[in-house]
Amino acid sequence: MKEATSKTASQARSRRVNVRTPDVMERVQAEVAEHYRSEVVDKLRSRHEGLTIGNTTVRLTKQFGFCYGVERAIDLAYATRNVFADNDVYLIGEIIHNQEVNRQLAEMGVCPLPGDSAVDEIEKLGPDDVVIVPAFGADTPTMKKIQERGCHVIDTTCGDVMSVWKRVRKYAKDGRTSIIHGKSSHEETRATASRAEGKDGKGNYLVILTLDECDYVCDYIRSGKGDKVAFLKRFTGGYSADFDPDLHLSRIGVANQTTMLKSETEEMQRRLEVAICDRDEALGKSEKDNFQVFDTICGATQERQDALFEMLENQPDVLFVVGGYNSSNTSHLVEIGEKELPTFFIREADCLKSLEEVLHFDLHQREEVSSYSEVLLGDDPVVVGITAGASCPNNLIEDTILKVFKLRGIDGDLVRSSS
Ligand code: SF4
Repeated sequence: MKEATSKTASQARSRRVNVRTPDVMERVQAEVAEHYRSEVVDKLRSRHEGLTIGNTTVRLTKQFGFCYGVERAIDLAYATRNVFADNDVYLIGEIIHNQEVNRQLAEMGVCPLPGDSAVDEIEKLGPDDVVIVPAFGADTPTMKKIQERGCHVIDTTCGDVMSVWKRVRKYAKDGRTSIIHGKSSHEETRATASRAEGKDGKGNYLVILTLDECDYVCDYIRSGKGDKVAFLKRFTGGYSADFDPDLHLSRIGVANQTTMLKSETEEMQRRLEVAICDRDEALGKSEKDNFQVFDTICGATQERQDALFEMLENQPDVLFVVGGYNSSNTSHLVEIGEKELPTFFIREADCLKSLEEVLHFDLHQREEVSSYSEVLLGDDPVVVGITAGASCPNNLIEDTILKVFKLRGIDGDLVRSSS
C-alpha cells in the first residue's frame, strides 16, 4: 500500500478491469475446484432418496450451497490474484459470508479492509493497488473513495443486488421513501440504503427487520403522526440522515435485502400496503400511488428455501444447516427448519463433537452454544437432512456428510465408494 503521490485524489480515477479472460479462467477454475469441490456432494446431489449405509441415511436438499453470484465473486477474486500477481490486492470486508472462503483468500494474499475502517484504509491506497468489491456490493461513500484513489477495481457485486439498487434509485427519483426489509448492519443493506438516497443524496430510506417493527411502522402510518423521538430511537442506524417519519412515510416503495425469508417479506409488503390504503381512505384520498413494491428476493435464495420446504414434506429426524454464522440466507434456512424438527446451524463438520454434542449457532441467543441431542444415538435407523446456505462450499458439506457417517461408525472410504 503506497500513497498515490503522482496524482491528487481529485485527478485520480479508479480503473475497472476485466480479469475474466478465457486463459485466466481456465487456470482459476481448476484452483477453485481444488479448494471447494466435492465428488461425494456431486454424486449425492442427484440422489434425492439420499445415501443409506446400514441404519444411517443422509439426504441433501435439491438446492444448496454456492449460488451463481457467489461462484462468480469467487472466480473473480481468484482471477484478480492471478492477473495482479505482483500488486497488493485488497478486499472490502469479506467476499462472502463464509470463513473458509475468506481464509483461503487471505492465504492467497488478498488483504481484507475491515468494514468499519475500510474508508480510512482506502485513503492510503495508490494507483498500483487493486480493490475487490464483494458480492454484496459496497456503499456509495466507499465506492467514491476508491474511485478517488485511482486504484484498479474488480467489482464482484451480484447482478441481483444491483437490480435492487436500480429499484431504490427509482424510488428516490420519484420522491418515494424506500422501506427496506433487511438488517441495517448487513453489508448488502448498507449498500442498498446508500443508493436509496438517490443521485442527488436527497432520497430517504428506512430499514425494518422484523414483523414487530413493520407493525410499529404501520401503526405510525395509520395514525398520521406519533412519538417521533421514540420512532427514531427504535430505528437508530436504520434510516437516512434527513428521514422524518412525519413527512417521509407518505409515499413509500418497498424493497428487500435479497436473502430474506420470502414469506416474511411478502407479509411485510402486505401489511404496509394495507396501512397506506387505510390511512389514505381515512383521509378521503383517492390516489393509489402512495405504495409500490418490488420483490427483490433473489432466485437462489428462494430456490434454497423452497428446496428445504420440499425436504420437510418427508421429514428427516434431524437437520444440519451448514454455513457462516453471519450469513443471512443461511439463517433463514435455520428458521424454516427449526419450526419443524431438531435443527442445528453449524459452520463446519467439527461442530459435530460426538453422537450427542453439537456446537451450533443459536439464532435466538445470537451465540455459539453446545446442545445435546439423542437423535443420532443408538442402532435405530436415522435419517439426517443436510442443507447449506448460498455461501457454503461443497467441501464443507462433504466433511459434514462424512462426519455424520463416521459418528455412526461408518468409514469415509465406504461412503465415497457407495455414493
Ligand atoms: S444469494 Fe442471491 S444476491 Fe446473494 S450473491 Fe447469491 S445470487 Fe446474488
